Amino acid sequence: MFATYRLSTVCRIGIAPLSLGAGLFLTGCAANRIRPPEGVRPTVKVVEVTGYCNCRKCCSWERSWLGFGPPVVSKGADKGKPKQIGITASGTRARHGTIAADTSVLPFGTVVEIPGYGYGRVEDRGGAIKGDRLDLWFPSHQAALQWGRKKLQVRIWNERVEGKNK
Ligand SMILES: [Zn+2]
Repeated sequence: MFATYRLSTVCRIGIAPLSLGAGLFLTGCAANRIRPPEGVRPTVKVVEVTGYCNCRKCCSWERSWLGFGPPVVSKGADKGKPKQIGITASGTRARHGTIAADTSVLPFGTVVEIPGYGYGRVEDRGGAIKGDRLDLWFPSHQAALQWGRKKLQVRIWNERVEGKNK
C-alpha cells in the first residue's frame, strides 16, 4: 500500500538473522526509515503526545499461570488472549518511530513528524488513545515517562484523506 512499508520490510528482514544484541543496529535502521510521502501536503495540528513502551503497564498484558505462563492481554475485550510483546496492532515490531493513535482519525501508515522525536508512523492502537492523541514508542518505561505528556504542534501526512480530497 505504502512504499515506505516495503522499505520497512526490507529493513526488518535484513536484521532478522542477527541476534538480540543487534538492538542498536535496529534503532539506527529504524531511525532513518520513516519519511513522509512525496507530493503530499502535511496537515499541521496541535495534539497531545505521550510515550509508551512494551511493558505490561503500557501495553496491558500479564503472565498467565500465576505469573509463570505466556503473556496474555490483561484488560479490555481481548482479556486473556495471547499477547505478543513488542508486536503492534498492525503486526509490525514496535521500535523508535512507532506511533499508537486512534486509527479512526489517523489510519495505519499515517506519517507524523513530532518535534523532539522525529518522524513516526501510525502502526499501533491503544485503549486510551482516542481522538487527537498520539502515543510514541520508547525502548524503556523510564524513557516513556521522561517524555511525559506534551501538547505539540505536529505535521501529519495522511495519504488516505489527501487521496479523497483529489
Ligand atoms: Zn511502559
